[in-house]
Amino acid sequence: MRFSRIIEADGSAIVQQCALCGGEIYRGETYYHISGEAVCTACLGDYAKKVFAPFITKGGEQ
Ligand SMILES: [Zn+2]
Repeated sequence: MRFSRIIEADGSAIVQQCALCGGEIYRGETYYHISGEAVCTACLGDYAKKVFAPFITKGGEQ
């Protein structure tokens, strides 16, 4: 794990990095652990769009 124990100046620890935005995820912070990737809560919508992109359909084209 690349960012397993980086301690910030204020004592907080980065335990993960978001696979989409690259943002730090700190100890105690909630995030989604999906297929081995960490995804922060802010990126869940973008992640879902990426995952479900093959299923996108236009009305009347089924
Ligand atoms: Zn993110």
